[in-house]
This record gives sequence, structure tokens and C-alpha cells, in this order.
Amino acid sequence: MRFFSIRNPKSAFRILKGHSTRRRACLTVPLTVYYNARASYRGKFILRLRLKDLKKMAQSAQSAANFIGVDVSGATLRAALVTSDGQVVERREAPLQRDAVVAQVARAVTELRDASPNIAAIGVGIPGLVNRQTDRVLVSTDLPSVARGDIHAELVKATGLRVELENDANAAAYGEFKVGAGRGSRDMFFATIGAGIGGAIILDGKLWLGASGFAGEFGHITIDAEGIECMCGNAGCLETVASAPNIVRRANERLYRDNTSSLSKLAMNKEFTATDIVNEAKDGDDFSLMMLERTGKYIGAAVASVINLLNIERIVLGGGVMEAGDLILDSIIREAERRAFQPCFESTQIFAAALGTDAVSIGAAMLARDVAQTAAA
Ligand SMILES: [Zn+2]
Repeated sequence: MRFFSIRNPKSAFRILKGHSTRRRACLTVPLTVYYNARASYRGKFILRLRLKDLKKMAQSAQSAANFIGVDVSGATLRAALVTSDGQVVERREAPLQRDAVVAQVARAVTELRDASPNIAAIGVGIPGLVNRQTDRVLVSTDLPSVARGDIHAELVKATGLRVELENDANAAAYGEFKVGAGRGSRDMFFATIGAGIGGAIILDGKLWLGASGFAGEFGHITIDAEGIECMCGNAGCLETVASAPNIVRRANERLYRDNTSSLSKLAMNKEFTATDIVNEAKDGDDFSLMMLERTGKYIGAAVASVINLLNIERIVLGGGVMEAGDLILDSIIREAERRAFQPCFESTQIFAAALGTDAVSIGAAMLARDVAQTAAA
């Protein structure tokens, strides 16, 4: 008789999985699992289990397991302990250490694991192009260090857990689709409008990646054929007018002509940000309201193109600029309605994102959950 020392039913299941089906059948009929219940029971006892009971226990352990989602797409690393139904139980945040991402992610995972030891998998949202087949980060202009080595292998080694990497906009889209503003839809377009502008397409419940993984580059839709040059090489992209730094640039240009705004007072003392514009607009500053309204028009024009192209059921808009809420959303919807082909527009719902700064980490955790559950089935 062979004894196995196990910590939870999942490990027993793993032991069985290591054997061939035939060997497993021989093993499991008389299988005796030696269960050392140190935490809950002072003595030792013997469990006699059949394979089907072990499978049941492994499945229930799987469904009770939590997941960790990590977002390394901004200046702050955000990690969240997420239940299998997408609820955030605990969070960790710290300024992102751009050249020590693996160590920092591993540290956050360890801390969250102390809160909940039963973690089934980790998902990480990365600002770059991720090949999900090979688990490699092909390119990341925002965080070059993650594209240098094999960050997937390093994270698996550092945490001992299954790791899923995904592009940050895709992860945020997946989060909104599963548990946020996209919930209940089958097809969804997602855009995140912040320091940059990203997008993602979900068709029939799955992320649509395109021929080489770049699908959904919403920020590089041309809005003004004679506009200013974009870092992508094109001119007049949506990003050149509607990303947070470009809203600030446009505001500064206009402030030279209009100094009655409360923003011009703000601009005398310090450099203002898009968040300042949003806050001033909320306080009723006409100039800031006008800036958001005009920015909404640009975004609405791009949204109209998406509606015409995809006749998509739902569009969800997130990111820092959307913190302005209805002050920008109303203008986006009005412009989209004015420009889109009417029958297409009528079948599209346009919502603000619901998950805020948790979107990437929740989405990455939900991707990790779905991959782990598919693998277990
Ligand atoms: Zn561009």
C-alpha cells in the first residue's frame, strides 16, 4: 500500500493525474490517501477515496479557489485577489518598479496568497503585444523590460502557479464583458481612453485578436486627415486629440485665447492635467466643459465608425478620461448618433465602463479562471 501525503484534495488529484489511465484505475480502487490535517485536526486519519470522489473534491476545490489579477499597465502596479465570480476580495497597490516587474508581481502574489492560500492561477495585464499561444510578450513600448526575457516562465518559477499573460486593453475588455458594463452582451467593443487610447473587440464571447494580435487599435482611427502627427506614423489619429495628454495640449492652446476660465488660473501656478480639466468641468467651469464636449465629439466620430463597421451590440468606454462621466459620454453618444448609419446606431448600446481601475486586474483574473477551468474539464 502506498501512502500519499497531501495538503488538499487537488494535490491528490494531481498525484493520480501523473499515472496512466490503466495504472490510475489499479491505484484508485484501493487508493488510500494519507491525510495530514494539521490545521484542523490534531491527530491523523486515513481517508479511503475512490477516483470519482477525488474528482468531485478536486472540482469543488477548483470552484472554491480564488484567482489573482495583476495590472502593470500604468505607473501603479495593481494586484487583486478575485473570487471565481469576479468579486475583488483584497487589493495591493504600489508604484510600479519598471525594471523589476517580475519580482514585484511575485511579491504582491505572495502577500495576497497569505490572505487566501487557495489560488488556482494568476492573470497579468501587460501594456504590449502578447502572444497567448507562446506566452511571450512580443513588444511593449510602454514597459520594454517585460519584452526582454521570458517573463511568463519567470513568473511561473517565482510563484509556482499557472500564469496567463494578456494585453492590458484586452484584459480590461474581458473584465467589463464578464462582470462589468458588458455583462449580458454577446458582442462588445471596448475602448480605454487615458494616457493612450486602446481598444478590444469581443465577438461571440471571445476576444477577437486579428491576424497578428493587433485588432481593436481604436486610438489610431483617423479623425482628421490633416491633423498632427501621431507616434504610430499616421497623422490625425483619434489619440492625437482625445488622449489625456492631448486634451491638455489642446486646452493649453486655447487658453492663450481665453483667459476667463478657472483653468487659466490653475495653469498660472502649475501644469494642469486632464484630471484637473474633468474636476473643473464638474465644478461648472465653462471652458473645461467645452473641452470635454469637443473631445466627446472626436471620440463619438470614431465610435460611429466602429458602429458602422461592426453593427455591434454594446460599446463600453473606460479609462481615466471617462471619469468625466456624462459630461463627456453625452457628447460621444450625440456625435455617434449624428454620424452613424441609423439602423446600426439603434441596435447599439453605449455605456461607460463599470470596473474603474480594477478592470485590468479583474479581467486578467477572469481570463486565468477560464483557462484553468477549460484545462480542468
Ligand atoms: Zn496613430
